[in-house]
Amino acid sequence: MNGLMTGKRGLIMGLANDKSLAWGIAKQLREQGAELAFTYQGEALAKRVIPLAAQLDSDFTFECDVSDMAMLDAAFETLKSRWETIDFVVHAIGFSDKNELRGKYVDTSLENFLMTMNISAYSLVAVAQRAAKMMPPMTEDGKGGGSILTLTYYGAEKVIPHYNVMGVAKAALETSVKYLANDLGPANIRVNAISAGPIKTLAASGIGDFRYILKWNELNAPLRRNVTIDDVGGAGVYFLSNLSSGVTGEVHHVDAGYHVVGMKQEDAPDI
Ligand code: NAD
Repeated sequence: MNGLMTGKRGLIMGLANDKSLAWGIAKQLREQGAELAFTYQGEALAKRVIPLAAQLDSDFTFECDVSDMAMLDAAFETLKSRWETIDFVVHAIGFSDKNELRGKYVDTSLENFLMTMNISAYSLVAVAQRAAKMMPPMTEDGKGGGSILTLTYYGAEKVIPHYNVMGVAKAALETSVKYLANDLGPANIRVNAISAGPIKTLAASGIGDFRYILKWNELNAPLRRNVTIDDVGGAGVYFLSNLSSGVTGEVHHVDAGYHVVGMKQEDAPDI
């Protein structure tokens, strides 16, 4: 199957390097014919993002720090200067002070709580506001609209040691997906989340004892393995293409089935 994204254009936010979940999604979108634009957070990441974008035939890259509303406005202006409309956005952004991604949630500071919520949850709302304005209006034959996809984690649903305030922000993100889906649904704009299993990335390296989380998931998930950015990319194509035309407000687990398991597997060794 190919060409599922032919004729569609969209923005990828949250690419840091070739380990990023955003990269797994972007690669498969391009394979399916999508035209891609990319934002990067700060000049240091530009050096990595620009060559990666080029690998996917894109020279359309620009800076955007989602905690700065003026920069977000400017980024969407830049997007509009080249493309009149877009069909999709990938929001693969999360951040918290790594000193609070270890130890106890009860010790969370107000400052880091607000920053984590802002960058990891509110930014989806801020992006959706601006992206929705660029998505084609509905036509009588049901065309138009678009698809917005974000990334979340099981720590929103259940306590994962060390995930702390990020889990609380992901819970807000997941609920935002539902409210945004309801608000934007009449315009045929769909909003969904992929709840990915643990994957070794730059962001994940900030989480205390992440290697233990990885090992635990590998040993206890029904598929007895961890997922890859390619597993996430496949689900990304589903959500951003017409394959999922009737799906919105969904939090879809791509986690080798880990979320259905209630206790340690009998065949899992003690770790
Ligand atoms: P990553 O480090 O590759 O990507 C995180 C991205 O967030 C980076 O590109 C970074 O520049 C961006 N970012 C942080 N603060 C920003 C800001 N203020 N403005 C703009 N961009 C900002 O790591 P990743 O694991 O690919 O993370 C992508 C998303 O996937 C995150 O939301 C993360 O929580 C989620 N996720 C990751 C895992 C995992 O195990 N890696 C599992 C489930 C969900």
